Amino acid sequence: MSSANPAEGNMPAPLTNLKIQYAKIFINNEWHNSVSGKKFPVINPATEEKICDVEEGDKADVDKAVKAAREAFQMGSPWRTMDASQRGRLLNKLADLIERDRLPLATIEALNGGKLFPHAYMMDVSISPVILRYYASWADKIQGRTIPVDGKFFSYTRHEPVGVCGQILPWNFPLVMAIWKIAPALCCGNTVVIKPAEQTPLSALYLASLVKEAGFPPGVVNIVPGYGPTAGAAISSHMDVDKVAFTGSTEVGLLIKQAAGKSNLKRVTLELGGKSPCIVFADADLDTAVEAAHQGVFFHQGQCCIAASRLFVEESIYDEFVQRSVERAKKYTLGNPLNPGVQQGPQIDKEQYNKILDLIESGKKQGAKLECGGGPWGDKGFFIQPTVFSNVTDEMRIAKEEIFGPVQQIMKFKTIDEVIRRANNTHYGLAAGVFTKDLDKALTISSALQAGVVWVNCYGGGPPQAPFGGFKMSGNGREMGEYGLHEYTEVKTVTIKISEKNS
Ligand code: NAP
Ligand code: MG
Repeated sequence: MSSANPAEGNMPAPLTNLKIQYAKIFINNEWHNSVSGKKFPVINPATEEKICDVEEGDKADVDKAVKAAREAFQMGSPWRTMDASQRGRLLNKLADLIERDRLPLATIEALNGGKLFPHAYMMDVSISPVILRYYASWADKIQGRTIPVDGKFFSYTRHEPVGVCGQILPWNFPLVMAIWKIAPALCCGNTVVIKPAEQTPLSALYLASLVKEAGFPPGVVNIVPGYGPTAGAAISSHMDVDKVAFTGSTEVGLLIKQAAGKSNLKRVTLELGGKSPCIVFADADLDTAVEAAHQGVFFHQGQCCIAASRLFVEESIYDEFVQRSVERAKKYTLGNPLNPGVQQGPQIDKEQYNKILDLIESGKKQGAKLECGGGPWGDKGFFIQPTVFSNVTDEMRIAKEEIFGPVQQIMKFKTIDEVIRRANNTHYGLAAGVFTKDLDKALTISSALQAGVVWVNCYGGGPPQAPFGGFKMSGNGREMGEYGLHEYTEVKTVTIKISEKNS
């Protein structure tokens, strides 16, 4: 999720002869056709051509997967009786296999997800083993406590796995989000049923083949590609799923929590959208702030939950900041993300493309000043010109709604109190950035902002040991770090009466 751009030196070329080998439903370490017999097409967003058809799972397939995951979770199963250190070794083995297969995995992310190949190779596919290894090392360190109670009793806690975990993924970081979800879940000893996003199932299915090769017992990881309202809803409303972890829109997050409430009160963690403020004071290093604010919103075509999509710039540097931001945004080479030298790829699909163009039109109509871009690009693929708006005011749609596209909104502020109030005036609370050389301002702002992550003099990025998640309607719970483990364990208190016969 870092927003730094990797250098293209020492980069292998993407595979040109990639054959999609894995396009079925993965249950019990076996490949299955869908119960309904249906398949769905997977599209390359840069060309709008079909890559392949994938088996379309729905409720019946989710039921099969949950049954397999439940059996794998039974007491006495190979997974439940496995030494915790061995769980760590399996996660490390999976990390090794991803490293071995960086090239096909990065090619899939670029082909299917519209991700720049250098980013896919140097970032997504490279960070995935790092996350797995981080959680691998936790596997045998998840410990309970002894509790000081009345001396006639002995009381301790066990941190047990929650059980069968449903995990519903977004399309913007298909492989990384699969790893974010499975690494902590498996490290704690849970079993999982994953639904990748309809647009981008291919890297998760490739990952399934590596799960099997690594030697995870059957049923520990199950992957059911399919659509949200069918396969996704079957997971969130399932009576035998103990927890659901979701990354995606706030709108669907609400549906998932409702489904959990209407079914079995399964545990829910949500990582949702944002409209994250980035605040630049006049004393900031301007070169750093312009570039970081730019990367903060344009990285991966703006399709990041943490996108710095409300940029507040102090009045005295506003005009210069806008001018430099526009110069920066005009520098892009758009094109097929598999081609060298391309710096911006397509949006993920027609729906997102239309939504972004509609928001751009609203910006023009509501009186923001269009500084550059402002429309589609090319004659095929879902490309949108890098777009910058200045003179944006808080009540405009582009200042309130998550755009998820390459569109920067630059607003003006005068005082620190004013900018704190305006930055917090949103239902969202995922991330924020502040640029200043004044330590007092940085500390004041980072305490006052209602956001799960605050970056000072930088924007984006975070190692697996740092927790990530949102305040307010940007989410529930935290992923990554030690905090992420809490979301995948239940705490059990065991109290034993000490027999008085021996005293
Ligand atoms: P979405 O619908 O929230 O997709 C996320 C996941 O939820 C997908 O796997 C989706 O399945 C599934 N889903 C959809 N409806 C469901 C339901 N009723 N029950 C259970 N699961 C369900 O997101 P989107 O429509 O692709 O994108 C819409 C907006 O969401 C974007 O414009 C952006 O603002 C936001 N978004 C945020 C993130 C993030 O990182 N927080 C990521 C993606 C999108 P399908 O594949 O069938 O949709
Ligand atoms: Mg969707």
